[in-house]
Amino acid sequence: MAQKFKCKYCGVKEDPENLVLEKKEYTRKSNHKDGKWKKGDVYNVNVRYHKSCYDKIQQENRDLDALYDEMKRIFDVDKIPESFMGLIQRIRNGNAAIGYKKRDAKKSRQGYPYLVIRDAYLERENMIRWKSQQWDGTTGRFLSFVLHYYIADVIEDVYKRYLRKESQKRMKKDVTQTQDYSFDSFAYKEKEDEQDISDML
Ligand SMILES: [Zn+2]
Repeated sequence: MAQKFKCKYCGVKEDPENLVLEKKEYTRKSNHKDGKWKKGDVYNVNVRYHKSCYDKIQQENRDLDALYDEMKRIFDVDKIPESFMGLIQRIRNGNAAIGYKKRDAKKSRQGYPYLVIRDAYLERENMIRWKSQQWDGTTGRFLSFVLHYYIADVIEDVYKRYLRKESQKRMKKDVTQTQDYSFDSFAYKEKEDEQDISDML
């Protein structure tokens, strides 16, 4: 039997003909202790993805670029430090927290999507600009302050809106035009909702 490979994105094992191959080039960051490689040596790693997973990654990269551009614009800087963007990536993957809020991430990429983080920054743009006029610390500290206070404050709401929009998109796709909505079914649905809310109170 042919060897199966794992899709780097979703982790599912697959026959190689169903995966696209990407050769990634890395540079050694330190010397090997027995001299097998030196710092600065280049090496290749084969990475495989499902085509659909690969497309998702490309989309994510575009979303990350869009977020980066918005942040530069809002903070009025030429670049955002790499270490801070690393933190943003960990937040996206769900293994770093914003303020005290951390998505319960069991798998990779279960944190806040880049689009959600971007929308949170846009929502707080005026506050950030106002605060930046009074800020006398470093840019790094300001980025961190904004993230853990201003962004933390709104991220969960922005995320809920995003999820709602996504599920509406899915529902629109699912609804067939022949479906019959009678008045009664709406009335019943409303009652059901009331019940749900009073159960929670
Ligand atoms: Zn996959």
